[in-house]
Amino acid sequence: MSKLVPPHASDSLMPLLVPEAERAEELNRAKTLKHVPITSRETSDFLMLAMGAYTPLTGFMGYEDWRGSAVDMKLSNGVFWPIPITLSCDKDIAGSIGVGETVALVDQESGKIMGALEVSEKYAIDKIFECKHVFRTADPKHPGVAKILRQGEINLAGHVTAFSEGSYPEDYKGLYYRPAETRALFASKGWSRVAAFQTRNPMHRSHEYLAKIALEVCDGLLIHQVLGALKRGDIPASVRTRAIDALTSRYFVPGTYIQAGYPIEMRYAGPREALLHVLFRQNFGCSHVVIGRDHAGVGNYYGPFDAHNIFDTLPEGSLITQPLKMGVTFYCYKCDGLATTRTCPHGPEDQLQISGTRLREMFVNNEKIPEEFSRPEVVAVLREYYAGQK
Ligand SMILES: [Zn+2]
Repeated sequence: MSKLVPPHASDSLMPLLVPEAERAEELNRAKTLKHVPITSRETSDFLMLAMGAYTPLTGFMGYEDWRGSAVDMKLSNGVFWPIPITLSCDKDIAGSIGVGETVALVDQESGKIMGALEVSEKYAIDKIFECKHVFRTADPKHPGVAKILRQGEINLAGHVTAFSEGSYPEDYKGLYYRPAETRALFASKGWSRVAAFQTRNPMHRSHEYLAKIALEVCDGLLIHQVLGALKRGDIPASVRTRAIDALTSRYFVPGTYIQAGYPIEMRYAGPREALLHVLFRQNFGCSHVVIGRDHAGVGNYYGPFDAHNIFDTLPEGSLITQPLKMGVTFYCYKCDGLATTRTCPHGPEDQLQISGTRLREMFVNNEKIPEEFSRPEVVAVLREYYAGQK
């Protein structure tokens, strides 16, 4: 019988999305409220709250929770939480809103009203302080830091009611699963131990290798794509999905994996973000998460295994879901197979490694991609995409 991990610090999931039948009425009411624009990062957090992925949060954080999650990775009630989930606005808007007032949250990009916020607190933060704790740097060149620095001066806290998920359910039909839905799927398959494999790229052989190591020790695999805003040069989700399908349909055992996506926007907070990724995977019903080299990192801000080591520093009981820590993966010609630095004794001259930048260049120049690096069926999907880019 399926026995999944419980949601984070709660007996049940706490989605904030109102039932479909009530959404039109809520939306009409919200039109009469003051409008607060929210950025794409805030919208992505709103959607995570709406679907219950951020259980047990019921809205955007107040000052004590902001400070606690930034400094000690703990909410004021003692619950483990590694990254502030906050909403900001500029001084003028904040000044016009009273504590106790309910405001409408409007996605800046689409102009759509997404939900309502019952404002319980307004507060200013020290952005540099937050960045130094969460990102380990306040360098404005770090993309996550840059977003914090661009935030409004005042944070608004309070309970969120969601009545829209924007265009996600429509745009990502067949991929957009909410935590209650992945849990029901896992249960229907009789899975208890489920590993999440996070990706924002197509899967090449090293990814296949990691996913299959997870499958060797778990009942099932959730291939979980980031659907939030992309960085320049990233492969669009539709192409990624086809490339992953091309791999799994030929090289994975049917019924052992599910491909899905979720609406987060990457912060590139490295180790802290790895903790958040494991926390919300617990809400999705996953008992394990594959954490590879430099998980959620960017540039050279984090050591290759900082995102592994941080798990060893947590107080016991912080998270039930656990990382599957994996080394650097490659094809080794001497071993004659995929391996990691933990299992292959040979040197770089025998190991095939291709960086993301070099791989893009190889596609653009129509060079041959070695079969040891990527399955030909995956390469075919990507070649078609790059050919259309010219
Ligand atoms: Zn080797």
